[in-house]
Amino acid sequence: MSLDLREYEDQAWAIYHEEKQEISASEEIRRIETLSLITQDCTSILDLGCGNGEIINRIISKDKMTCGLDISLEALKCVNTIKVLGRINSLPFKDQCFDLVICCEVLEHLPFDVYAEALKEIERIAAKYIIITVPNHEAIKHNLLTCPYCGCKFHQSRHVRSFTLLTLKNSFHYFHIQKFKFCRPIIKTYPMFVMKGAKRLRIIGHGFPHLAICPQCGYFSVQQHTVDANINSMRSKVVHFLSHVLTVKKRQKGWIMALYHHN
Ligand SMILES: [Zn+2]
Repeated sequence: MSLDLREYEDQAWAIYHEEKQEISASEEIRRIETLSLITQDCTSILDLGCGNGEIINRIISKDKMTCGLDISLEALKCVNTIKVLGRINSLPFKDQCFDLVICCEVLEHLPFDVYAEALKEIERIAAKYIIITVPNHEAIKHNLLTCPYCGCKFHQSRHVRSFTLLTLKNSFHYFHIQKFKFCRPIIKTYPMFVMKGAKRLRIIGHGFPHLAICPQCGYFSVQQHTVDANINSMRSKVVHFLSHVLTVKKRQKGWIMALYHHN
């Protein structure tokens, strides 16, 4: 039996809140960069897939109507403005209901049919602007984990699709990109044969990362670190060295963010 997306998100947020996790420095930079894309002429703002309100809680002001929608009730507990429990592919809002619709770090998680419906819904309820942020050109196959309990292979953050700037340019019919930027952290990507070799030699791919949850059986590790930090560091140095010698790694910024304007 696999976990429904809502069950999965509730479980992930419960672990996150229980352990009082804090966002990393690079996540904080992404939040600030995202907020900097918001224009002054937006008086109604919806954050779709708002999670625990990291973005929408920072936009709340007297002269703006703000709303956060998420699939997880557990996440919404931390949202300090109007909150709606819902699914992105069936939004309970009228056409062009919000000046701005923000959808950050959500699209990469959506299954095929939900993804297509979600894009249509975003376009339907946005009156002036849309902000989208997604991982940049992510090598999904490189980041798969294997569940030690049921053997299921899955992405640690449950990403199921990869994006480029071109993907974003072609996402909407009635909106075009007005502004875009690439954001840190810098990600190094290695070709598949380097990754496979490193995994086979057990240089990488050890243990089950903390906070990862198997989407099939719900398994997660309660230990903070399954591999000694020094060993991890040594392993990554070996991969780095080999890739340097082979000159095969690609460096790129990890995230793309785009501000769309209505045509
Ligand atoms: Zn499993």
